[in-house]
Amino acid sequence: MSGVRENLTEIRRRLAQAAARAGRRAEEVALVAVSKRVDEERLREAAAAGQTVFGENYLQEAEGKIEALAGAGLCWHFIGKLQSNKLGRIAALFSVVETLDQARLAGALEDKLVKIGKIMTVYIQVNVGREPQKAGVLPEDLDALARAVTSCPHLRLAGLMMLPPQHPDPEASRPYFRQTRALVDSLFSRGLAPQPLGLSMGMSNDYQVAVEEGATLVRVGSALFGPRS
Ligand SMILES: *Cc1c(COP(=O)(O)O)cnc(C)c1O
Repeated sequence: MSGVRENLTEIRRRLAQAAARAGRRAEEVALVAVSKRVDEERLREAAAAGQTVFGENYLQEAEGKIEALAGAGLCWHFIGKLQSNKLGRIAALFSVVETLDQARLAGALEDKLVKIGKIMTVYIQVNVGREPQKAGVLPEDLDALARAVTSCPHLRLAGLMMLPPQHPDPEASRPYFRQTRALVDSLFSRGLAPQPLGLSMGMSNDYQVAVEEGATLVRVGSALFGPRS
């Protein structure tokens, strides 16, 4: 026993508590089980315990798992770095792309989706912490990218995704979560998003703070599956 089921129960309990503290309903927050470098057996354990949404960073690694677990009714989010030569396979295999950060990639993904006749849910990744080593559009370039994404008929913009600067104290993430929340509110209020947008933010270390600040998706890996190999 690896304890995946127990971890999942505990994470769900904490998510519900954090939602309650913020006056939100627990159902407003979805858990993405980040399964990079996690073996198939632990994925099956999570699936058996009722987890349906999984996040993968690396296409090649994901392909094997998606194939092995086909038929289990799982939903896969791509949360890794997008490369244009992999967009066709990503478009075919994943339900959601969370890491769109360039208009050029949005256009290229749209072309692939047209070919297979599929509508894809996407999140724009924002580099709120302005870290040079991180992916994501800078906040001042977000409007232009949101316009580019919403002009693609096969892309459905569902929200923003972000990773705060790494810090051992989860409270250090709070101002970055707040800034991202302000960005989604602003996109909607200025008519740049057709509907209120979601927020993919919060990982093992800080998901409770993220839910207090409005996260609708939290991406949790090690707290669920244990340390990665
Ligand atoms: C690995 C990863 C996570 C999960 O990180 P944990 O700290 O293990 O919860 C979440 N989001 C992204 C983009 C990741 O790459």
